[in-house]
Amino acid sequence: MASSQSSSFSNDCPLESPSCWCGLKTRLKTSHTKSNPGRSFFACPKYDMGDTRCGFFIWTDIFNLLDQNLRTRENKVWNMWDDVLLREYEVQKREDQVRERERMLKKNQRILLWLYWVVVIVIVLAWFG
Ligand SMILES: [Zn+2]
Repeated sequence: MASSQSSSFSNDCPLESPSCWCGLKTRLKTSHTKSNPGRSFFACPKYDMGDTRCGFFIWTDIFNLLDQNLRTRENKVWNMWDDVLLREYEVQKREDQVRERERMLKKNQRILLWLYWVVVIVIVLAWFG
């Protein structure tokens, strides 16, 4: 009995124990009631000392489900964050491309203006020269 409990302990409880309302790390315990025999739960450590004010209690299977749910949501948030960063990077890249094009256009404009003046000077020289 004790060995099966200790083996189920390592399988059922891969998680860190939650903190109770007092802010203390809860203790893992096993229920010996008729309705929940052998079911493990986390409880406030002060409960053993007769202090029932906190009264924190949660079944480990329920806690595991909640924790799993929370981790799934957390993963979704991280994936969304990755998407945001990726999009931000793409926007930054496009901004750089637009700036580069703008720079090229200004350069071409200067070259065209310079060519225009060369042609004007050549015509003026040809006309009066
Ligand atoms: Zn407590």
